Amino acid sequence: MRKFALILMTIAPLAVAQDFATSFKTTVVTDGIYMLDGEDGFGGGNVGLLVGDEYVVLIDDAMVPTAPALLAAALDLAGRPIDFVINTHVHGDHVGGNELMAKGGAIVVAHDNIRKRMQGDPELATSPGALPVLTFSDAVTFHVNGNEAEVFHIETAHTDGDAAIHFRNVNVMFAGDVMFNGLFPYIDLDNGGTVAGYIAGQKKLIAMIDDDTTIIPGHGPLGKKVDLERNLDVLIDSQARVKALVDKGMSEEDIVVANPLALYHDDYNWGFITTERMTRTLIRSLTSE
Ligand SMILES: [Zn+2]
Repeated sequence: MRKFALILMTIAPLAVAQDFATSFKTTVVTDGIYMLDGEDGFGGGNVGLLVGDEYVVLIDDAMVPTAPALLAAALDLAGRPIDFVINTHVHGDHVGGNELMAKGGAIVVAHDNIRKRMQGDPELATSPGALPVLTFSDAVTFHVNGNEAEVFHIETAHTDGDAAIHFRNVNVMFAGDVMFNGLFPYIDLDNGGTVAGYIAGQKKLIAMIDDDTTIIPGHGPLGKKVDLERNLDVLIDSQARVKALVDKGMSEEDIVVANPLALYHDDYNWGFITTERMTRTLIRSLTSE
């Protein structure tokens, strides 16, 4: 969702000032694990907070303009500074608070590709302080507060640096933007995401969880396995519907007019990934991947 934020900031800075969250609300996921999101406006992606006797771990850290409100909410809950930040991917609504959190003493952890992409993007790496200092290629496990939190890479899904976090002991999965719960997903083809990888990534998550697992998605409300399965079914069916028209040799514009995803519009269309944009992403992936 980086472009969403950037477009808003560059085109309508005054209107946006009202749209950005100035406070964050907290949902208790389970004992010691919270989800935070914007209360009075768009705060960024959903944030995870792990609080215990030993360490405070934040998963994703909102946007540059909303990070101070997130930090205040996190400090209030934790009662002491944040030790680690884990970034689930490179978008500015998930890494925007890195510099602020690092200044407060947090160590920022992320997949190798996030650091590489941030170094190549002056909008994100406003200073060296915003860059992850600890990176991993495949997986890294936190052993904190009696929890094991396995942070693992999901290849070429939403981007090429996605990570999800599995809290095995308490049956919680932080999916990041490999799940937009009840919304058409953003698959960022320009930052290494692919539709095939997104489908494979969701299947991988489904195989790791059970019916009782609580899933924290990157955007949308808390979910269960059944919600992720429905999101996956919609994506697979959407791809098939678009492919049928691509295979007929129809042009992109003709496919958009034919609106093969119309049946999902009322439930899955939203401001950033409209039905039309989802259709165009699927066409582009089918004709280039
Ligand atoms: Zn994203």
